[in-house]
Amino acid sequence: MMEQYIEIKAANPDLLLFYRMGDFYELFFDDAVEAARALSITLTKRGQHLGRDIPMCGVPVHAADDYLQKLIALGFRVAVCEQTEDPAEAKKRGAKSVVRRDVTRLVTAGTLTEEKLLAPGESNFLMALARVKGEGEAAYGLAWIDISTGVFRLCATSESRLAADIMRVEPRELIVSDTLFAEARLRPVFDLLGRAVAPQPAVLFDSATAKDRLSRFFGVATLDGFGRFSRPELSAAAAAVAYVEKTQINERPALGIPEQDGASASMFIDPATRTNLELVRTMNGGRDGSLLKAIDRTVTSGGARLLSERLMSPLTDPEDVHGRLDSVGFFLDEVSLSSSLRDELKRLPDMPRALSRLALDRGGPRDLGAILKGLEAARAIADMLKPATLPAELSGALDALEAMPADLETALAETLAEELPLLKRDGGFVREGADERLDEARGLRDTSRRVIAGLQAQYAEETGVKALKIKHNNMLGYFIEVTSGNSKALTEGDAAKAKFIHRQTMANAMRFTTAELADLESRIANAAGEALAIELETFEGLRRAVVDNAERLKQGAHALSVLDVSAGFAVLAEAEAYCRPMVDDTTAFEIKGGRHPVVEQALARQSAGPFVANDCTLSPESGDKGRLWLLTGPNMGGKSTFLRQNALIAILAQTGAYVPAASAHIGIVDRLFSRVGASDDLARGRSTFMVEMVETAAILNQAGPRSLVILDEIGRGTATFDGLSIAWATVEHLHDVNGCRGLFATHFHELTALSEKLPRLVNATMRVKEWKGEVVFLHEVGPGAADRSYGIQVARLAGLPSAVVKRAKNVLARLEDADRKNPAASLIDDLPLFQAAIRAPEPEAKPSEVEAMLSGLRPDDMTPREALEALYALKRKI
Ligand code: ADP
Repeated sequence: MMEQYIEIKAANPDLLLFYRMGDFYELFFDDAVEAARALSITLTKRGQHLGRDIPMCGVPVHAADDYLQKLIALGFRVAVCEQTEDPAEAKKRGAKSVVRRDVTRLVTAGTLTEEKLLAPGESNFLMALARVKGEGEAAYGLAWIDISTGVFRLCATSESRLAADIMRVEPRELIVSDTLFAEARLRPVFDLLGRAVAPQPAVLFDSATAKDRLSRFFGVATLDGFGRFSRPELSAAAAAVAYVEKTQINERPALGIPEQDGASASMFIDPATRTNLELVRTMNGGRDGSLLKAIDRTVTSGGARLLSERLMSPLTDPEDVHGRLDSVGFFLDEVSLSSSLRDELKRLPDMPRALSRLALDRGGPRDLGAILKGLEAARAIADMLKPATLPAELSGALDALEAMPADLETALAETLAEELPLLKRDGGFVREGADERLDEARGLRDTSRRVIAGLQAQYAEETGVKALKIKHNNMLGYFIEVTSGNSKALTEGDAAKAKFIHRQTMANAMRFTTAELADLESRIANAAGEALAIELETFEGLRRAVVDNAERLKQGAHALSVLDVSAGFAVLAEAEAYCRPMVDDTTAFEIKGGRHPVVEQALARQSAGPFVANDCTLSPESGDKGRLWLLTGPNMGGKSTFLRQNALIAILAQTGAYVPAASAHIGIVDRLFSRVGASDDLARGRSTFMVEMVETAAILNQAGPRSLVILDEIGRGTATFDGLSIAWATVEHLHDVNGCRGLFATHFHELTALSEKLPRLVNATMRVKEWKGEVVFLHEVGPGAADRSYGIQVARLAGLPSAVVKRAKNVLARLEDADRKNPAASLIDDLPLFQAAIRAPEPEAKPSEVEAMLSGLRPDDMTPREALEALYALKRKI
């Protein structure tokens, strides 16, 4: 057996091998050590290999899913090896024969289908990254597949966009070729995903054969019908498909045809910004507190997945945005339709995942039930929508619903029972009347059971033993049981002896059978076996029918998700008073009464007073360069909140949602950058300041006129003058070179002087009131600059000891006094732009003798000899 184990393990070196032995999956050697530690299960040993004990641990088969879930979450990949023959068969080959075993599937984070292992509202993407030389800029291809729903997308991208494009999908697993994985340049990209990156042999990514391999998978002669794909896209797609095939062994998942998800069609959000803005999860990894959580009003798992996908990739085409906004507007007008639609959707099962399990032959009767319920809901919803005048997106959805296979629905409805068992081998899922042969087999089984019940009364009468019972267990099947005291009635007398056959003697009972009973029993067993066989046959037929209709079912399910997302946005807009944004091709940015979607809801939950709405105008006044706001104000004044809310409003608008504002006019933002919050990245050996500078560098190098940039407290992590000078130069660069729309929050009040020089820089401040020596934060953004930072007041609010507060006030007074005599504002006059290195102005010095002499020289009027003499004279002076 160990030989067999080692052979199978050698074929799956990077995976933990779950080796089936009876009711357990066993792990051996290093696998056992790792798994025992990861799962907190006992490590034992079994036999020896090369003179050493073999470590072993195991998990029971019935609980395997829970253990798998834990291992996958920890980043392991698992090969599941099953017994592929009955142990009795092996015995026939010889006493020492080992049962045949084979790996039946690989369980990896990116290729899960089990309900238990998947989060319902989240997509589960496997992504492949490929690079093809000689393709210029767009040398990289990404393809991502969710085999639990069949979604299959791809895009071409470039090295500079790579990290952003990977993170907008957030794959659970990323496969790359060994060679790419080894490239130091790409290391930072792979570091973003940690253990989710799985290097694969380079042949998987071979671009020369990619087209053929894909055509073969989809069973088509040419891929032309799917669209035009670049070589890197094809290479990534073929690799992703090959990996799926490799993990699913013999089963072929129902993948949709690959759809291009052009990187240029979505807003570029770099990974740091994505994390900082807490779009789909917060910095500490949870969903609570994220933008997604605050705006999610969907009622189906499919809707929740689509919403998250859309939020991760906001659109950049105003037409598309308005298409989505029209759908939301429709549901806002049609309140009662929206509410009955949502009631229907609430009952909708997760159709795509059921479909995927059926396609992989891992599904059960309840998955068929889910498809039926989905089809019924789709029909009911289509009937609701038909009379209405629908906007384009929803009318497309209605078409998809009407194209759902009605004959499949009829077949399922006529066949499936009301209550469905989890496993098909339990039987009982085909309804009465659906199949005559089945009804007959079941009838036979049930009549025989009734006859047995009748026999009990008959035997009791015959023997005079009133307490005689006919029972059933798995060992004996049906048997007659009497107490030992009564057994004589069945064992004495010729007639009794001929009839009752002794089977078993218990401590105080005896068990018998009769020829009649044995006959009935075998009839029951045959009938039940036949009934199950018929049911399994029916199941297979229905499963085939479902898989044959996979594409239409998927389109329909997608349509239902679109409806759910749109209606959910309408509910959100209504409940939270959001407005329809005006999105166009300009570089406008004009938000009136904007609010932070997450903070606003948090304040409402805590009944902590209303959220103060604020305007933000970054539209260009003339020319096409947008404005920059320089925002000052005390800590806790609401600067970060304001910065983020404007970025979030832009994201929501381009996602196609209504936004938390009184009105909003947004010219498409093609790239969004942020530098907010401060976090160490010690794992990668970077201090807070280093992280800040790396992120700032990325922004200054990449932001363009259509970008929106928000920067919070640049230069905080270093000495004051260093920090101020960096912040200063950054503002100038954003203003003059990047020409983007932007918000720049700072505690360096000195920067406000820049607005005199930079025409598109506008000063704004968070207003505060002082009241009896205390600061009151108004959270209101107004024009102008803050005159003070109130740091000491905030420190006092935070409970700093009063002695420290008092001393700090003293020190501050002195510093401010010194500062008045030497204001940094003077820099405005001293420094031409882009030489903004800060020097403390030096005291007016008299020119030195050498300087005086030098300035008196007129080289043009000198002979070479005079020049040489002057040089000697100068040299003597030093
Ligand atoms: P800063 O960045 O200036 O230090 P924050 O943006 O972190 O300040 O805001 C501090 C707190 O003030 C927030 O946690 C929030 O509760 C509250 N706050 C901020 N902006 C508003 C607002 N517009 N209306 C009401 N409360 C606000």
